[in-house]
Amino acid sequence: MNIILLGPPGAGKGTQANRLVEERGMVQLSTGDMLRAAVKASTPLGLKAKAVMDRGELVSDEIVSELIDAELTAMDAGTGAIFDGYPRTRAQAERLDELLDKHGRKLDRVIELEVDEDALVDRITGRFTCGNCGAGYHDRYNLPQVEGVCDRCGSTEFKRRPDDTEETVRTRMQEYRAKTAPILPYYEERGIVSRVDGMASIDEVADKIDALLS
Ligand code: AMP
Repeated sequence: MNIILLGPPGAGKGTQANRLVEERGMVQLSTGDMLRAAVKASTPLGLKAKAVMDRGELVSDEIVSELIDAELTAMDAGTGAIFDGYPRTRAQAERLDELLDKHGRKLDRVIELEVDEDALVDRITGRFTCGNCGAGYHDRYNLPQVEGVCDRCGSTEFKRRPDDTEETVRTRMQEYRAKTAPILPYYEERGIVSRVDGMASIDEVADKIDALLS
């Protein structure tokens, strides 16, 4: 099964993708994670993308599509893919169709996480992750059970994304509204879009997604 998780920044795409990875053995293909890894490793691609990401704008369609192509090439054909943060433009959506075709895959479902934008700034500016295992936390809604210690792996190192500031979040939302939301009709025409209330609890959203994929 191959699915796209669509929704503005902070809608919970990464959180839900993590659940699907754990529960269904699917692979999460997050272009944001790939780009952050390239920035961390200071690769030529990372150096080029960093300034754009820090501003909250979109990096080029070619760059992200090449990253996805490489991941799909490396993946086992029988393993399902969760596209998280890709596609983000109409050109990427069209390119993804070509890539799926090339890799003998088909798109089963596009799940849009619907959220109240005002709540997103609050969600995003408080979030942080374990620097070791990537478990997600929040300053106000989801602190580790023991302060400063990751529930999942016991690490005491945590990190925050440099683009999770209020100003950048606003730009990222504008980018979503202007470039990403307009790709929904592209998939609606095929009757594969489902909408899930992303303001519900993590477990409730996960249950809804689960029901859609069963
Ligand atoms: P994300 O982790 O999905 O929120 O992505 C973080 C940042 O990486 C975005 O604000 C963009 O600058 C860049 N990025 C990630 N995925 C894409 C994409 N599919 N197209 C263009 N830029 C992207």
